[in-house]
Amino acid sequence: MYKTKMPHYSKMSPAARALPADSLLANRAMAYRVFIEGAREILGAEKLAFFTADFRPNGRQAPAAAAALLSHLEETYGAVGGGGLTQRIGRAMFRYGLKDIGEQVGFRDMGFRILPSPRRVENALRILACFLTDIIGEPVQIFDQGTAWTVQMACCPPPGSPAASHLYGNLATGLIQELTSWAGGGRYFSVAETACRAAGATACVFQVDKKPLD
Ligand SMILES: [Zn+2]
Repeated sequence: MYKTKMPHYSKMSPAARALPADSLLANRAMAYRVFIEGAREILGAEKLAFFTADFRPNGRQAPAAAAALLSHLEETYGAVGGGGLTQRIGRAMFRYGLKDIGEQVGFRDMGFRILPSPRRVENALRILACFLTDIIGEPVQIFDQGTAWTVQMACCPPPGSPAASHLYGNLATGLIQELTSWAGGGRYFSVAETACRAAGATACVFQVDKKPLD
């Protein structure tokens, strides 16, 4: 169990918060630990040790260290293979994050659990947005677009990571896929990054279809 105390997000809006620098760094260190747990599950301990031999980051270095690992995966397995692995790490991150901090961020609340499915998925996205805001340090926003929700990150990758920002898109896609599937009672929602800062857009935008695929 992590020492970092996460706030309860279910009644919060991301823009309403301004975190002191030390909380931001503590949150990044915590997120990195969850990232490493996910990476260990997908890559195996031996490969993870091989890819991470040269870094033991603190909160300040965590975004760069995570990006370095993702770059290694892309170099080793190519854009498609590395991207697929990165997405799977993102999915695993959600499961570890849920176990470790699900209660603190409001995922175990009765009020959340009894919501009808579409609203539970939307609330889960809003909780995730607050959580990511507290890691990135810039607002992550959720928009209702009618047949889809969009998750907009104007500051992706987090400050401190190198320019290879497209690598985070696969991670976020996997994370959002697993979150929406969990909140939607095991159904699968299509998630795609439709605009990316690495390709010149002003924000990375992830579109989540409201209608599940199955
Ligand atoms: Zn992006």
